[in-house]
Amino acid sequence: MQAFESPRGYQVVRQVSGSDLQARFAEIVGPRQVRSDPSSLAAYGIDATVGYRGYPALAVFPTTAAAAASALALAGSLGLAVTARGGGTSLAAGATPLDGSIVICTELIDQPLAVDPDALSVRCGAGVKTAQIDAAAAEFDLFLAPDPGARAISVIGGNVATNAGGALGLAYGVIRHHVLGLEYATVNGDIHRVRRGGADEGMVDLLIGSEGTLGLITAVDLALLPAPPCRHSLVARCVDAAAAARATIALLERGFLPARIEFMDDVAVRAVQAARDRGLDLSVGAYLLIEFVGRGSRPQRQVEAALQALQGTGGIDAEKVAGQRERSYWEARHAITSSLARVRPGKIGEDICLPRTRLPDAVDRIKQIAAELDLPIALFGHIGDGTLHPNVLYDPLDEDQRARAAAALGRIAETSIELGGVLSGEHGLGRVKRDHLEAAFDADTLAVFQRLRDAADPGAVLNRPLQWVGR
Ligand SMILES: Cc1cc2nc3c(=O)[nH]c(=O)nc-3n(C[C@H](O)[C@H](O)[C@H](O)COP(=O)(O)OP(=O)(O)OC[C@H]3O[C@@H](n4cnc5c(N)ncnc54)[C@H](O)[C@@H]3O)c2cc1C
Repeated sequence: MQAFESPRGYQVVRQVSGSDLQARFAEIVGPRQVRSDPSSLAAYGIDATVGYRGYPALAVFPTTAAAAASALALAGSLGLAVTARGGGTSLAAGATPLDGSIVICTELIDQPLAVDPDALSVRCGAGVKTAQIDAAAAEFDLFLAPDPGARAISVIGGNVATNAGGALGLAYGVIRHHVLGLEYATVNGDIHRVRRGGADEGMVDLLIGSEGTLGLITAVDLALLPAPPCRHSLVARCVDAAAAARATIALLERGFLPARIEFMDDVAVRAVQAARDRGLDLSVGAYLLIEFVGRGSRPQRQVEAALQALQGTGGIDAEKVAGQRERSYWEARHAITSSLARVRPGKIGEDICLPRTRLPDAVDRIKQIAAELDLPIALFGHIGDGTLHPNVLYDPLDEDQRARAAAALGRIAETSIELGGVLSGEHGLGRVKRDHLEAAFDADTLAVFQRLRDAADPGAVLNRPLQWVGR
């Protein structure tokens, strides 16, 4: 089922018989590293985006960069499309393969994972799970600042390919700001290394966020930071989503820089509470969760000062939280995505990112879209850095709801563009935002994207449905 896609007739260029194909790839990666059984192909035909599916010919699992490069070159020489895959947690259908294509799964390229505590850096294979990097860094009281919500499953190659962010993006930026160098395979089967500080720095930046359209990332060098020893939180109950947005702006304008300002509206709260009672107040219009980190008593003092500052902001009732209550609130925030099915069985999400001053307008307009199209839209996200995740909730078996959900998606994208925002703050464009590219980028810019793409991959082997480069 491809609920939201307008099919554009992508085709596999040349057909090779199934068993021949399997044997050719098995020669490169080993027979156990090639799967063509229906359950594997079903599993690797989807990512975390509801409503998108492909039917790949094979899923291939190289364990080294050299094997990945050779598999990519073989696919290219056979005229087969390749979908690069990391942990498969894309919410933009970026890792949903084309029918008949080869999925190159990078999750077994998981060596090395080498922390250099003196250089405050780590080198890892593209398939290392994001949370594993954090765990390895923690042994040296260090941490990887970008904290994407699915980090227990996503891998670092996928994070770099999407320029992933997270709740800590407000204070520390997205993964682009922490990549020191990359190793990647080209469609010719070559392996290149590029790093910051040299003339090749521009290539590092092009690859970050290119969603697998320029090359297959096989290893990453990352900066680590000393872990802040103390953290303190406050929670604000807000009369509505716009009040939460105004409070966020007020805090930042007054010079506060929390590590995280997270937001969840009443629809998100309802979903989380329906999944499990976490003590959230169903009568609030929205919650803000705000965390300060640092050394000694500083974060605690910042919480006190922020509480005072919020007193003058309308529609807000804020308090300090600690211990189990604090954990409960943060767990509730992380449980939103997995709880939305409690409201409607299907969901399709945007991750628009807006100038902060336009956030009150944006949330009001999205509420209006929900009312006009008569569909619940859960609003949550990293509001501190302007990222909102409006998730349109619908029943995939109901044609009318599907059509209204698609319309809502389009109107949310238009709203972001009109208010000076972008289509994607962190998930990437993938297939989900493909229909909005002409509205978001001018024709010359799209043409430059295409020329870059053509230069790196003239046969459009890699991630063929994503016909643009970077963001
Ligand atoms: C519950 C949940 C919470 C999430 N929270 C966040 C969040 O806070 N912040 C955020 O940014 N995202 C978030 N996401 C989205 C997702 O986790 C990120 O986009 C993540 O970076 C994808 O990594 P992955 O390894 O799963 O990549 P995949 O989903 O496998 O792939 C993502 C894209 O990268 C390409 N790709 C993958 N590996 C490579 C490679 N080695 N070389 C070249 N291209 C490659 C794929 O082709 C695809 O286009 C969330 C997802 C879920 C399900």
